Amino acid sequence: MEYRFSDIFRYIKPSEIRSLLKYTSDPELISFGGGMPNPESFPIKEMKEILNDVIDNYGKKALQYGTTEGLDPLRDELAKYVEKTEGIRAKREEIILTTGSQQALYAIGKIFTNPGETVITEGPTYVGAISAFNSNKAEMIAIDLDDKGMDVDALEERIRNFMANGTKPKFIYVIPTFQNPAGTTMVLDRRKQLLEISKRYEIPIVEDNPYGQLRYDGDPVPSIKSMDDDGNVIYLGTFSKVMAPGLRLGYVIADRQIVEKINLVKQGLDLASDSLSEYIAYEYLKRGDIYRQIPKTVSLYRKKRDLMLKSIAEYFPEGVKYTKPNGGMFLWVSLDEKIDTTRMLERALKAKVAYVSGAAFYPHGEKHNSMRLNFTYSDDDKIVEGIKRLAYVINEEMEV
Ligand code: PMP
Repeated sequence: MEYRFSDIFRYIKPSEIRSLLKYTSDPELISFGGGMPNPESFPIKEMKEILNDVIDNYGKKALQYGTTEGLDPLRDELAKYVEKTEGIRAKREEIILTTGSQQALYAIGKIFTNPGETVITEGPTYVGAISAFNSNKAEMIAIDLDDKGMDVDALEERIRNFMANGTKPKFIYVIPTFQNPAGTTMVLDRRKQLLEISKRYEIPIVEDNPYGQLRYDGDPVPSIKSMDDDGNVIYLGTFSKVMAPGLRLGYVIADRQIVEKINLVKQGLDLASDSLSEYIAYEYLKRGDIYRQIPKTVSLYRKKRDLMLKSIAEYFPEGVKYTKPNGGMFLWVSLDEKIDTTRMLERALKAKVAYVSGAAFYPHGEKHNSMRLNFTYSDDDKIVEGIKRLAYVINEEMEV
């Protein structure tokens, strides 16, 4: 059979991370590649109790189809949670549950972009956002970030150039807190400036915040959504890093017009998110389990971050640059300009260590000498051994 696939597959490429997964069955491989939470952070005991109670108390509803926007009591609990943790004030009607925040990214691409239209991202940015926006054939422009977050002056200049040519980007996608992949956090001044730019040019901001509660040191920085009084910010949250990613539950907080459009897209994707997961998340919030679980996860990950940073300082060659994140799950390593980390990956896999090369995090693979390392998943001894192996690989590559 000769299948006639749609043109879209010229734009959709497999992610390097997915391809790496085939190596994860090798028990010798130490992988800093995936973005997985450590299973030790899962609230197993609490989940068992909640699951039993959910089946006993709401079984008939929890196993039934739910509404597309999600369970009302969960949306009310979420409103309280985001107010408490992020200072965001939201009404039930401004919240929609999604199947992971990944689905929200796809839906947002779908509701805003016609093929070929521009969206702005950070450079580097989340690889799953690149896939989601690619599925709608959006043209992505990456604005560099540094250790203070996205370069908002460069952003404004870029927008002005677009306007001079009679076009305007459809939205600006940012992960301001503990960025994936860079680990950096956008400072308050830049957040305010970004919001000003959004208002001035009427371009919405998509604020993706899966890691905000995983802070290991430093003071919290207000979410952009908490400063938004005019519907400029579309906020994405998820239970993946504060409960468990297997439940596939995320949410969007935005102006009702946006929520209604996402609802329509979602009707065509999966009708509704998983009812059982929604009841579980509802109880997890209502009982306050979430507030007891987060500090445990934070102290587990803080130790792992410290260990990876210490090992890098000890074993990596002079001149290698890396970010020192205050939270989240990743750090970003920049090597000598002459090194191509995509090419180096083969050498790394032979040495039984994996990472994701930096090019994967640029819409057009612009930069070649960086890599993302995940510090949350591996056991402590593996973190040290993996960094030693990687140091060996980098040294070897520098000699070529
Ligand atoms: N956005 C970012 C920045 C992420 O890092 C992730 C997960 N790695 C997601 C969205 C998607 O998360 P989920 O679908 O599990 O909610």
